[in-house]
Amino acid sequence: MAGDGEGPAIGIDLGTTYSCVAVWRHDRVEIIPNDQGNRTTPSYVAFTDTERLIGDAAKNQVAVNPTNTVFDVKRLIGRRFTDPCVQSDMKLWPFKIIPDTADKPTIAVSYKGEEKKFAAEEISSMVLTKMKEIAEAYLGSTVKNAVVTVPAYFNDSQRQATRDAGLIAGLNVLRIVVEPTAAAIAYGLDKMSNIKGNKKNVLIFDLGGGTFDVSLLTIEESYFDVKATAGDTHLGGEDFDNRMLSHFVQEFKRKHNKDINGNPRALRRLRTACERAKRTLSSAAQTSIEIDAFFEGIDFQSTITRPRFEEMNMDLFQKCLELVENCLGDAKMVKSSVHDIVLVGGSTRIPKVQQLLQEFFNGKELCKSIHQDEAVAYGAAVQAAILGGGKGTEKVQDLVLVDVTPLSLGVDTDGDVMSVVIPRNSPIPTKKERGYTTSINNQTTVCFKVFEGERAKSTDNNLLGRVKLRGIPPAPIGVPKLNVCFDIDANGILNVSAEDECTGQKDKITITNDKGRLSKKEIERMIEEAEKYKFEDEQYRKKVEAKIALEKYAYNIRNSLNDKKISGMLYPAEKKKIEDAIEQSLEWLQKNQLAQANEFEEKMKELEGIWNPIIVEIYRPGTGGGWNSMKDHNASYTTSTSGTTGAGPRIEEVD
Ligand code: ADP
Ligand code: MG
Repeated sequence: MAGDGEGPAIGIDLGTTYSCVAVWRHDRVEIIPNDQGNRTTPSYVAFTDTERLIGDAAKNQVAVNPTNTVFDVKRLIGRRFTDPCVQSDMKLWPFKIIPDTADKPTIAVSYKGEEKKFAAEEISSMVLTKMKEIAEAYLGSTVKNAVVTVPAYFNDSQRQATRDAGLIAGLNVLRIVVEPTAAAIAYGLDKMSNIKGNKKNVLIFDLGGGTFDVSLLTIEESYFDVKATAGDTHLGGEDFDNRMLSHFVQEFKRKHNKDINGNPRALRRLRTACERAKRTLSSAAQTSIEIDAFFEGIDFQSTITRPRFEEMNMDLFQKCLELVENCLGDAKMVKSSVHDIVLVGGSTRIPKVQQLLQEFFNGKELCKSIHQDEAVAYGAAVQAAILGGGKGTEKVQDLVLVDVTPLSLGVDTDGDVMSVVIPRNSPIPTKKERGYTTSINNQTTVCFKVFEGERAKSTDNNLLGRVKLRGIPPAPIGVPKLNVCFDIDANGILNVSAEDECTGQKDKITITNDKGRLSKKEIERMIEEAEKYKFEDEQYRKKVEAKIALEKYAYNIRNSLNDKKISGMLYPAEKKKIEDAIEQSLEWLQKNQLAQANEFEEKMKELEGIWNPIIVEIYRPGTGGGWNSMKDHNASYTTSTSGTTGAGPRIEEVD
């Protein structure tokens, strides 16, 4: 149960391209809009010479600041630098990735003129911080507890790293839930009355920005059980954008004989236009793109139709269906046994994707009752409510989630043979034991290497760590009894222990640091730095506010002077004095854009010191103008007390 004063527990869908936050309130889930009014927030973080930006603000400036705008970090989290996926992704990113000493990838950016390095966990924590703040602004209370989702294929290391990101963001991560399960909860809750008493097989088809995941779940009463998962870590909305991008690059080349490849800014602008066009094509049959001064001063205008878009992506759409087929195969299920097909992920809005999927399932209606972009956050919020307790959650308290292991887990045995202890797709939490023995006479030490993966040869799988038993009493081959126990908790975190039955000797590991996980000390440092960055963001915001306040004040006085009624009441010398002061303030502003908040405030006070006595004089009853008559004559001005300095009356615009 969340402690008092901590606010409700929230659900966060930390997506590769977009993130979404939701909360259980008033007996239902509410998706929380961000400060721009959007219900999803780009998973982007940008660093500039002056500030750090997260979300829409970061994505909006990507074209002008490509090397310091970081996105897609979900592809990096919990992976090693030398991981082939990281190596190939790196080639496509405009920002720099470098290895640290422990083969962990770090992101190098320039922030306030200095090179800074961040772990993927830190960048993800910044996105989580943003989501937390969005929720706090909406709820009007602090938020401490959250459920965060990860893809079903995320291994232990990736889940741990996501949890660490939460920690750095100052969140207590109540549970890591896999995305299809979260989506299924959203769906289950929606259809609860239909599910009661009978078992349903549900296919979750999640086509997002960068990845495609398909999962088969069974829902029985309130049990959600992931039977199988399949997918592609490089198939999604960005690929569709890329296809359209190449199409237009070619077209521009044809029309103007100019190649924009090699001009990152033009490419980025075109990519943004393509994403927008793609979204439009989900509801319109045709759309146009228009970019002014696109390349070497040439404007670019073109149109694209839905059939053309579909044609250029058809192989990618088909690939999704092949993966659905694989998933069914893995679950040993035939198409006709699937009761419902649930669409998740922004890219499932594409009509062709829906059409192909529906045809694949012989015309079966697809379930679209939950918003595609929001289903995962929705389910996470339900899970958060269950775990966080509190008022009004009775309706969901009896839901039980069953996650599965995404990969088989086992130990290496003689001859490089993988001996599976926990098969893939086993429900978690789970605990399994298997007996092993020595492979030579009088062997006194046995090292169990723990692997994850589906290949028969251990070394083709991924090595997670080692447990070692020493001091085994010398005995003939095959006599010692050595038990290995794999224990996966509800968060998917694996503990492996080995015990010699004869001596009771034990060794155990939690699969953590061994794979480049952050140490406790590093996390502590990052938490401190996160606080520092937050403070700096706040300072920057205050500074900009103070700057704008000064600018606005100066212009407002100038506007007042343009009002004949006011200027007519001033002595020429008085008028000149204030005009000079305005001029000087604006000039100072021009030259001191990077000044500190207090400097702007000082300038504001100076200006107020000149203007206030004049305006007070004008407003004083009996001076000809007078407060009341002013108000009547000129509705676009009013006086108010300066919020920044607390000094006398000021003139402000009325909206
Ligand atoms: P992820 O979880 O992978 O971060 P989302 O599920 O939020 O991503 O999906 C984001 C993707 O969905 C983006 O590529 C976006 O362009 C795409 N998208 C959003 N709305 C539409 C739409 N109306 N039509 C087509 N694609 C869309
Ligand atoms: Mg998603």
